[in-house]
Amino acid sequence: MTSLPDLIKPIPYRENISFSKLTTLGVGGQCKLLFEPVDEGQARSLVKTFIREGWSYRILGGGSNLVVLSDIDEPVIRLNFKKELKVRGREITAPANYGHIRLSQEVALQGLSGMEYASGIPGTTGGALHMNAGAYGRELVQILSRYRYINPEGDVIDAVPDSSNFGYRWSHLGSGYVALNFTVCLTPGDTKSIQAEVESNLHKRGSSQPLSKRNAGCIFKNPEGHSAGRLIDQAGLKGYRVGDAEVSSEHANFLINHGKATAQEFYDLMIQVQSKVQSRYGITLEPEVEVWGNIN
Ligand SMILES: Cc1cc2nc3c(=O)[nH]c(=O)nc-3n(C[C@H](O)[C@H](O)[C@H](O)COP(=O)(O)OP(=O)(O)OC[C@H]3O[C@@H](n4cnc5c(N)ncnc54)[C@H](O)[C@@H]3O)c2cc1C
Repeated sequence: MTSLPDLIKPIPYRENISFSKLTTLGVGGQCKLLFEPVDEGQARSLVKTFIREGWSYRILGGGSNLVVLSDIDEPVIRLNFKKELKVRGREITAPANYGHIRLSQEVALQGLSGMEYASGIPGTTGGALHMNAGAYGRELVQILSRYRYINPEGDVIDAVPDSSNFGYRWSHLGSGYVALNFTVCLTPGDTKSIQAEVESNLHKRGSSQPLSKRNAGCIFKNPEGHSAGRLIDQAGLKGYRVGDAEVSSEHANFLINHGKATAQEFYDLMIQVQSKVQSRYGITLEPEVEVWGNIN
């Protein structure tokens, strides 16, 4: 990349940050240029400038759904907005860099029901919107009342959810879109029972997921009518290891980094799991995680 255009020079940025620090899985190369805009105006200036210069760019949230395989040369935007909630009765608006788990805990404390399912889903609210994150048969779009984003043309859009724009671990906010905030509409309930459900969900995860090891959550989507974890387990792959990357023996759809896994090892493990499940069941497992970069 040539030198930075003047318009975006005042926007905070850092160079050469390792993706091991930016993602929960901890593999990958360097993030060559990480911009951290502090408000919507700065985020929009970045997008407009990148469009004008013809540069592609990426958006990073909490890095909890990412497998990064190499250095990323394109500029990466990670929002650093003020982490403040706006509460209007049953409606809560959160900036897109707000912690998703923190939001579910805070609304529970306020006696608002509807986000209990999210109490163990890490990352940011922006990442949750992009992914339409969900668990236990619930997903974000079910409680979403409004959301605000920058589109790939650099316009700020206020939207209400339309079912055609959200699906299973998918939303229309694909490449080039920057989620800015969202508003959820919740139901008043009994604080103690809401918090009890939050605790119970956290407990379920603690006892079924390898949370003491670095991971990126479920690696593969559940194929129609199947559980990806069950298929991987029944293919005898729990504990299967490539270097420091391993199929968790607690939850087969979690691939874990024992500490020193390389991107190559992680990639090889993903490919081998896919190919063994394919040859045994004829089912193609599709990644639920986003994969950035390439193995050379
Ligand atoms: C232990 C563990 C458990 C998990 N359990 C679940 C679960 O039960 N259900 C579930 O759905 N997921 C789960 N996940 C996956 C992950 O936490 C979610 O998908 C989460 O919503 C990703 O958010 P993030 O901020 O970390 O996104 P990132 O990983 O940073 O990014 C993921 C994608 O979202 C995009 N993105 C991030 N922020 C924005 C933004 N502001 N605007 C536009 N695009 C953006 C990125 O460009 C990228 O394409 C789990 C992960 C872990 C590690």
